[in-house]
Amino acid sequence: MNHFEYKNGELFCEDLAVSDIAKEVGTPFYLYSKATLTRHFQAFDSGFEGIDHITCFAVKSCSNIAILSLFGGLGGGADIVSGGELFRALQAGIDPGKIIYSGVGKTESELRYGLQSNILFFNVESEQELHRLNTVAADMGVKAPVSFRVNPDVDPKTHAYISTGLAKNKFGIPIHEALDLYLQAEAMEHIEVKGVSCHIGSQLTLISPFVETLRKLKAFVGRLAENEITIQYIDLGGGVGITYDDEEPPHPKEYASAIKEELDGLSATLILEPGRVIVGNAGILVTEVQYTKSNRGGAEEKHFVVVDAGMNDLTRPSLYGAYHRIEPVKEDVDLVQVADVVGPICETGDFLGKDIRLPHVEQGDLLAVFSAGAYGFTMASNYNSRPRVAEVMVSGDQFRIIRERESMESLIQGESIPEFVEK
Ligand SMILES: *Cc1c(COP(=O)(O)O)cnc(C)c1O
Repeated sequence: MNHFEYKNGELFCEDLAVSDIAKEVGTPFYLYSKATLTRHFQAFDSGFEGIDHITCFAVKSCSNIAILSLFGGLGGGADIVSGGELFRALQAGIDPGKIIYSGVGKTESELRYGLQSNILFFNVESEQELHRLNTVAADMGVKAPVSFRVNPDVDPKTHAYISTGLAKNKFGIPIHEALDLYLQAEAMEHIEVKGVSCHIGSQLTLISPFVETLRKLKAFVGRLAENEITIQYIDLGGGVGITYDDEEPPHPKEYASAIKEELDGLSATLILEPGRVIVGNAGILVTEVQYTKSNRGGAEEKHFVVVDAGMNDLTRPSLYGAYHRIEPVKEDVDLVQVADVVGPICETGDFLGKDIRLPHVEQGDLLAVFSAGAYGFTMASNYNSRPRVAEVMVSGDQFRIIRERESMESLIQGESIPEFVEK
């Protein structure tokens, strides 16, 4: 359930009409509901009540510090994949003791930054990374807390671009090779083995791949125990899906109880790294219709609605062919047409929706692109020299701009013309 609802034919975010916010902020902009963010975080987190766990929000899905700060206040930690995300999490006041550092390509300075910040542990993804971490930790005179991201070779049954737990994916260490690495790590002076981790993919709509993964992890933890290696943390990653269209993902409560049941008998703290399931349906992108046009060619007539947001603002449709529901902010009972909702960018792939059923819309009308809270703003770019849009958060009958719309000046910030380039 979320707090984006139509009242008397008009879209509201909590107690505010979206069109009123647009009047003050301009378009396009991302709009988040604090009540929805809170509700989704708590629905997920409370499912694991009664067992030792930390919900480490996946920062890459939505990284505004206002949102990170909200989750930190609700007891959440952070799953990060870069030094930049570590900076954000710390700026937002997230407890470093609840920060997990994932990712295949951590640089030496990023490892150092993580160690300096006293994060909970690193999810190490290769033998070379383990050696580099040991060297950096030795140099700093500390012990690096480590968990290995193992690849359980489980099919998450999701989109190929967002499945990560198959042998053919670049992530993690094949589970049958991991024991050797644990033994190496145990012998290293500046490494402290903490846990075992995995993340099999994103937008999963079934529980069974998670359960299958957990079974493999449990068996592996048993093998570690036989080798006198004890584990304090089991990190199950993220990946629970959401409804964009007609998907029927498990309710977070069902997911949690399946995991809890499977965990039975294991005395380790559970780490969860949810992203999309918490923020996906807690944010929308609001955009204004600039032009409508029809191209007649052959037998077919194609309708286009050209809006002021493009693939640089919300890239999922072009990148993955992802579906986002698009509706007018003011509901109209008028004639329904089938149209492509396209942006202003000079690429054929620049669309927010293809063959979408829309009521008749006109220049100046506002459209809401739903389910845009996850991998929306965080994947935005300045392509076509478009300033990135504003981010806004609503709480009850108030709203705040939590990231200003970028200016023209910001587009060329840091650029300079060298003296050897003649004007
Ligand atoms: C992307 C990612 C997540 C979050 O995935 P969601 O599908 O958004 O829940 C969690 N952990 C890791 C390591 C990731 O790469």
